[in-house]
Amino acid sequence: MKLETPVELVWLRDDLRTLDNPALFEGMKQGEALAIYILDTRSPGIRELGGAAKWWLHHALKSMATSLREIGVPLILRSGDPEQVLQELINDLPISAVRWNRRYSPSEMKVDAQVKRRLAERGIQVQSYCGSLLKDPWEVQTAGGTGYKVFTPFYNRLLELNIRKPLPAPEAQDYPGRSLPATEDLETWNLLPHSPNWARGLEDTWEPGENAVDDRLALLIDSIVGQYPEARDRPDIDGTSALSPALRWGHLSPAVLWAELEQVASTQPEKAQGCYALRRQLAWREFCWHLLFHNPQMLEKNLRAEFDDYGWAEKGQSKEIDSFISHWSQGETGYAMVDAGMKQLWNIGWMHNRVRMLAGSFLVKNLGVHWKVGEEWFWDTLVDADLASNSANWQWVAGSGADAAPFFRIFNPELQGKKFDPRGVYRGRFAPLGSDPIVDLRDSRQDALEAYEQMRKLH
Ligand code: FAD
Repeated sequence: MKLETPVELVWLRDDLRTLDNPALFEGMKQGEALAIYILDTRSPGIRELGGAAKWWLHHALKSMATSLREIGVPLILRSGDPEQVLQELINDLPISAVRWNRRYSPSEMKVDAQVKRRLAERGIQVQSYCGSLLKDPWEVQTAGGTGYKVFTPFYNRLLELNIRKPLPAPEAQDYPGRSLPATEDLETWNLLPHSPNWARGLEDTWEPGENAVDDRLALLIDSIVGQYPEARDRPDIDGTSALSPALRWGHLSPAVLWAELEQVASTQPEKAQGCYALRRQLAWREFCWHLLFHNPQMLEKNLRAEFDDYGWAEKGQSKEIDSFISHWSQGETGYAMVDAGMKQLWNIGWMHNRVRMLAGSFLVKNLGVHWKVGEEWFWDTLVDADLASNSANWQWVAGSGADAAPFFRIFNPELQGKKFDPRGVYRGRFAPLGSDPIVDLRDSRQDALEAYEQMRKLH
């Protein structure tokens, strides 16, 4: 490599795609782009990925390296402290700019701000972009200039805003190949499970990376979206996009999905209702990040402080509670809808939304266990585990969230099963055996309502 050729460094994070990636696009436009992924093992507050997410990341990085190679962009892998890693690269290469797509969790924003400051001190240009959300969380504001606490007004405001159009595909570059900086061997990151390899169901179900997105998107538009309003609550059929991991890891840009749905709604009117319904769900993802940005305490604390007095049980509190938690996580509560969901989660790293809601409700209300216990289990087992969506939805289920389900609406897993899995196909697929119920539905519901009334009396 001619040392004087300036290098555009693109720091990849939750945006593992080559299409509609603003930081990569701009880097390639401005010069010779080199991409880096840093496994951050040092920065305070950065939550370690769960097991399923690590599995996904391993394969996604392999796939990303291939996609990047096709457009002439080398991918460097490093682990450690991002600031130190970037400083080292800057020492070794004639880097003209560092570019990334923005992240929005409190700890990640802190890391990014610090890195930006330090690089600026060295005279390195740092440019960040909105690539993982449709809008930066601070761009969607109430008339009074604050963030939203309720989804519908947030959504209505989002619809009024101009959502950026997807970028054209980047043109392949010719990166001068020699003297690339050292890269770590992905295998040494130990992201995959070994003895036992519990990821077989994940391997059979998913193809992490950008490549698989096109096919799923085509199927979504062809046959799923038209039925989405009726089918989206039915775990027994393939009636939702199943694109949550692709969105989580950035293989699919939300702007691309948004534009696609708009286009289909305007050209195929029979699918318009489905497109709008799906667009609304995509906006829930935005809303969760919006909530987290404005309420960074949401990861740990009830958004409605009165729930601090609810008296949820914690892990380790008693043998009975630990046994409840273990039965719930293993899918052995004796309620087939809950068990099928929990086994689906364990087997394939994903669970249908309706079942996430009722399995969550069962833990928090019928078993009286704190939502954080459920949040942690989901964090470890979901391939789409997402800091904002996971915590916001757990708080929604628990009733402690900003725009949450009223606490007294306690899902009845048996009625839910009759309604949303009428022929028992879903239950039969994931929980065919059945076991004795660990709690009585009516009694545990009554206990939850009484605890709720006690809490209300205190406020
Ligand atoms: P679709 O119905 O096809 O929706 C399209 C996209 O919209 C999804 O891929 C997702 O990105 C977004 N979306 C849909 N519903 C929601 C929602 N309620 N909140 C936020 N975004 C939404 N989703 C995650 O991506 N990561 C999580 O960690 C996560 N944890 C959850 C925990 C609980 C307790 C609950 C009740 C829900 C959670 N969800 C989470 C939201 C939702 O269950 C999943 O996004 C959805 O099931 C993914 O399936 P899909 O892609 O087929 O969704």
